[in-house]
Amino acid sequence: MTNSQDHTRTLWDAVVIGGGAAGLSAAQALGRSLRRTLVIDSGQPRNRFAAHMHNVLGHDGTPPAELVARGRAEATAYGVEFREGSVRAVRDEAAAEDASGGAGSPRTVRIELDGGEAVEARALVVATGLRDALPPIPGLAEHWGSGVLHCPYCHGWEVRGQRLAVLTTSPLGLHQAKLLRQWSDDLVVFSAGLGGLDADTERTLVSRGVVIEPDPVAEIVGDGSRVTAMRTEGGREFAVDAVFTASRMVPHDAFLGALELRRADTPFGDFLDVDGTGRTSHPRVWAAGNVVAPAATVPAAMGAGALAGAAANFALVEEDFALAADDFALAAQDRGLEPERAQRVAGASS
Ligand SMILES: Cc1cc2nc3c(=O)[nH]c(=O)nc-3n(C[C@H](O)[C@H](O)[C@H](O)COP(=O)(O)OP(=O)(O)OC[C@H]3O[C@@H](n4cnc5c(N)ncnc54)[C@H](O)[C@@H]3O)c2cc1C
Repeated sequence: MTNSQDHTRTLWDAVVIGGGAAGLSAAQALGRSLRRTLVIDSGQPRNRFAAHMHNVLGHDGTPPAELVARGRAEATAYGVEFREGSVRAVRDEAAAEDASGGAGSPRTVRIELDGGEAVEARALVVATGLRDALPPIPGLAEHWGSGVLHCPYCHGWEVRGQRLAVLTTSPLGLHQAKLLRQWSDDLVVFSAGLGGLDADTERTLVSRGVVIEPDPVAEIVGDGSRVTAMRTEGGREFAVDAVFTASRMVPHDAFLGALELRRADTPFGDFLDVDGTGRTSHPRVWAAGNVVAPAATVPAAMGAGALAGAAANFALVEEDFALAADDFALAAQDRGLEPERAQRVAGASS
């Protein structure tokens, strides 16, 4: 039976959960390292709302779905397999021999899918991205990714010089408010989300011609395909061409709960704690992309994924040597040889 027909029984070298920019890069690195790799993906990359990607070197203007399709084809060419589905839980599984005290048998992680199936892997890369919880303002969700934007580096050029609004959602919004002035001198900042503005901050914004509107936004008005205005609770209307705002970013990591991984408090919220290679506090689990780095754009997610894939492969390389050395020592013992003597015998017969 082939791997794709019998995922339940196969022990994979590596499983990657999430097939976006980070996951596909990790999968490519693992596939090219001759690791038997499975990608499990529910097919909802974060940027699916946008027609084109920008600030992605070599892919400027490429539709997000096209990048994913190319990434899948490339990984497939290196033997990576794909499975559509959603992971609901990951558990730390000691192999049966380990549970009975046997030495050297590899421990694995068990990955359970929504449909009830499960696979096991020696290494796991989590690249499941995040969910953008949007401010509940009428008109906003309809225009997310077209007239309502979150990242000036991704979409600022396309709306440069136009009438822009910043809808602040937290005190962190001041950063976005200042940033957007770089792309347009026709900028209104809806400041209710910043809390009270002190005089210094107000002067800073006004000094470069930024208009500050304290009245909370009631609605984002559009004409079907485009954003045309912002309406405040007090009934004031501001004509705009595009709105920038920040979502609350919720990582897709609840399915890892049983592993009790270490977490870190960040300015963006509570995220998994990883080292520079993406390794979590579990020695078999790496994480890359938006699931651990909410500010990562596509190129950053790709880089982190490639690094995590390589790091996972290297951990397996080390383990392969450790297991082989254990087997070697056991075999020598069986033959009544001292390890040094066994080594000489092996060297002489090779
Ligand atoms: C509207 C919008 C436009 C953007 N435009 C740009 C741009 O122009 N340029 C740019 O550089 N960046 C852009 N970004 C940012 C970009 O989306 C992210 O940097 C990128 O998607 C992060 O990649 P990732 O692989 O970490 O996550 P994702 O691309 O979100 O991929 C995660 C994958 O994991 C899957 N998944 C989640 N949970 C599970 C589970 N439990 N089981 C199985 N699979 C699961 C998801 O379905 C998804 O396919 C934009 C973001 C938004 C919101």
